[in-house]
Amino acid sequence: MGEQIKKILETAESAIALCADELALQLAEAKFLGRKSQLAELMSNLSGLSPEERKTAGMLLNEAKQTIAELVAKKRAELGLVKQKLALSRDVTLPGIRPEIGHLSPLTYINRELVDIFKELGFEVAEGPEAETESNNFDLLNIPANHPARDQWDTFWLKQVKDGNDNTLLRTHTSPVQIRFMLAHQPPIRIIAPGRAFRYEAEDATHSAVFSQIEGLMIDKEINVAHLKATVLHFVRRILGEERNIRLRPSFFPFTEPSFEVDVSCGLCEGKGCKSCSHKGWLELMGAGMVHPQVLRNVGIDPEVYSGFAFGAGIERLTMLKYGITDIRLFLNGDMRFIKQF
Ligand SMILES: [Zn+2]
Repeated sequence: MGEQIKKILETAESAIALCADELALQLAEAKFLGRKSQLAELMSNLSGLSPEERKTAGMLLNEAKQTIAELVAKKRAELGLVKQKLALSRDVTLPGIRPEIGHLSPLTYINRELVDIFKELGFEVAEGPEAETESNNFDLLNIPANHPARDQWDTFWLKQVKDGNDNTLLRTHTSPVQIRFMLAHQPPIRIIAPGRAFRYEAEDATHSAVFSQIEGLMIDKEINVAHLKATVLHFVRRILGEERNIRLRPSFFPFTEPSFEVDVSCGLCEGKGCKSCSHKGWLELMGAGMVHPQVLRNVGIDPEVYSGFAFGAGIERLTMLKYGITDIRLFLNGDMRFIKQF
């Protein structure tokens, strides 16, 4: 049997040496080490031998198997196939893959920036509930039930919930926070109230049923439109850039008199007119005005002594202007590709 094994080894050695690629090597491996190989056949014949002979022959066969296996492994290394296998295994020196964690919304960044800017100006942050009473959201802001202006605010009513005799609703703006604060504090008052508001309306690229506003309110003696304009210009320039300008256009809100729409100069054309500003040079920013004397009376502040301004800016609107975002629905759809850009 020794001779036979020696011959097999010689054949295997030259056959393996001739292998030029992976396939050839696999075939050679199967031929000399597989279940139908000559070695396997000899192995199965061992049972016919005496115990002594069986032991010697078994050892020889195993040695031969091992020699061939080593030849195959050596050839595999020569062909560069081992490298490929290594490349597929783990490299413990590589940095790990971080698990995906949450990311702040751009609205949160702008909100924090606004709070910081107004804190520098001596404003404090006031908060109120998102589910409001009809009185705080409408009546005390000089928008009684039969007032035609009420139609400007498409409202989500909370039918099952009453606050005393008052109906409840999802606040349609952050202005009720003004009412709450003025009912509890006497002037001088300087507050901002950032928060969510809700309107029952169809959503499109510029309208969302859920949106964020920041309300500003300043009440003191001899406060006038110049204070309003200076304050708004200051925060607009801090958020959108020092080159921006604002203008006030006459408008109407029941809770301010006079009322204004505030426009900001277009950042792309610097007011010259371009596609993004419909060639006007200006973009609509927010509503503002001097607090209506009736609103002051409603909360027990004497309009003969005190005056003040208020504004309500859409935080989405500011964020869209700052980053050139064209669809308000992106803020709430949870797409990480959008969120990760900020
Ligand atoms: Zn423009």
